[in-house]
Amino acid sequence: MGGGAFDSGVVLAALARYPPLRAGGARVAVVGGFVRDTLLGRDPHEVDLVVEGDAAALARSLGGEVVVHEPFGTATATGPGWRVDVAMARRERYPAPGALPEVAAASIEDDLARRDFTVNAIAVTLSGGELLAADHALDDLSGGVLRVLHERSFIDDPTRLVRLARYAERLRFAADPATESLAAQAGFATLSGARLGGELRLALAEPDPVAVLARLADKLPLAVEPEFAREALALAPAESDRAMLLLGMLSREEAWLSGLELTARELEVALACQHARVPAEVTPSALWRAWRGLPIEAVAVAGARGGVDAAKRWIGELRQVRLEIGGDDLIAAGIAEGPEIGRRLERTLVAKLDGELSGGHEAELAFALRVQD
Ligand code: ATP
Repeated sequence: MGGGAFDSGVVLAALARYPPLRAGGARVAVVGGFVRDTLLGRDPHEVDLVVEGDAAALARSLGGEVVVHEPFGTATATGPGWRVDVAMARRERYPAPGALPEVAAASIEDDLARRDFTVNAIAVTLSGGELLAADHALDDLSGGVLRVLHERSFIDDPTRLVRLARYAERLRFAADPATESLAAQAGFATLSGARLGGELRLALAEPDPVAVLARLADKLPLAVEPEFAREALALAPAESDRAMLLLGMLSREEAWLSGLELTARELEVALACQHARVPAEVTPSALWRAWRGLPIEAVAVAGARGGVDAAKRWIGELRQVRLEIGGDDLIAAGIAEGPEIGRRLERTLVAKLDGELSGGHEAELAFALRVQD
């Protein structure tokens, strides 16, 4: 533990914008991504504290709003513009590959040893600014190396395979040869769909999610064609669920997607993206027939699959087209209530989309009254 050319002072200085802690004598350290990123000179984005003692009590001493996750020995405190996660220092034991670990209270040094990669197994104690680090951790941080802490790491917890891909892409770090070979032999078979789905969401929130998925493509039923994927993302409007767009578009198996325990809406978007196609005919009304009611993400995917102009036109213009008349206007003009109203409105909209109708309300009403059912 310890040593190296890094200065723990920068980590404590970066913590200064958070509320002061009252540790009540317990040993507390900041750990994980915050330490890694600060020592690398990158902007850290969340604070993880580890305490040899009561996580909830420490979280409460921060003064913000506190949520305690009792069974996990963790707590989160949030205030205006800040969030701190606190965990009881623990040792972990995996009862079965891919299962959640059993945890027991332990020292901060033990807690570092249960982590995913050495560069995440560095801590700075809050009282003395002591730098604690797993073997190789500081050298790996300066050398840009991702190294697991023991050889069962990916078997115990295959989510670390996803984490490896995320860090490799985001930090531009490379796995050391032993880690590379352990990762090559490991897979996701023992992991529940829910946990894999959760981990993939994190991967898809990375700055370059396509590159992260490409690194995992040999272990998951994914066919990653980065150019198409990036084209679909470029077509997708701002409100799109970019994560589900990618997951659906690149996935080869519907059953696999369904097993990830996504929310109903996420699954709907992902499946629509998996099946998205450009219709054979691309007149506005043909696009309307093919794409109305479809999640917009699926239209972006269809565009990337060979209909860029059609998708751009749908997203930018056609999906907004509405009639100025409604069913009430037809009823007022003497058409009987019932399915005929819907059919007349639909045919009027189709005519409007195809540019066969100019003029507003009056022209639409005249057309709707004229069309044969
Ligand atoms: P970032 O938030 O930048 O992705 P982070 O390192 O803060 O990185 P978190 O997911 O917030 O990542 O996890 C916090 C820390 O918890 C990690 O740095 C790592 O030490 C540890 N950790 C998280 N997930 C695992 C895991 N599956 N196995 C072992 N350790 C883990």
